[in-house]
Amino acid sequence: MDLQTLLPRLLPRAIAWAEAVAADTAARGAPLSALALADARTVGVQRPEQIRVLMVDHLPLPADPELQAAALQTGLLGPNMTGLTLGYSILICDGHLSRRLLSHECRHVTQFEHAGSIASFLPAYLSAIVQVGYWNCQFEQDARAHELSDA
Ligand SMILES: [Zn+2]
Repeated sequence: MDLQTLLPRLLPRAIAWAEAVAADTAARGAPLSALALADARTVGVQRPEQIRVLMVDHLPLPADPELQAAALQTGLLGPNMTGLTLGYSILICDGHLSRRLLSHECRHVTQFEHAGSIASFLPAYLSAIVQVGYWNCQFEQDARAHELSDA
């Protein structure tokens, strides 16, 4: 599957899926603790009180077969992923909550705030992933650079 070619066609569906997961997480997730609020501010989040965190046993996969295949091919929603941030909504896999992972995901919230919406952030993020890969993408490098170490 050539994702660079497919991406423009997949983007509207990817955005719709991300917005739906974000809304569900916003409705069911928990706000950050006082300590995590401070960490979120440290990594640049402007409105950390908007963040909701939902613990899940696995990250959600889109039902759309093409979208699901693309998510797995990029590694974005693969078995090694333990966190996912969509707007102010953060999903963390059970057993993986740590200060390091949460600060990493909060940095993605900062990136999203700079873009202004999921619909404007996701195209930039996904084209970067498709072009240079998950590990080398500028947004992942930036998030890794802002991780706060576990106590
Ligand atoms: Zn990341």
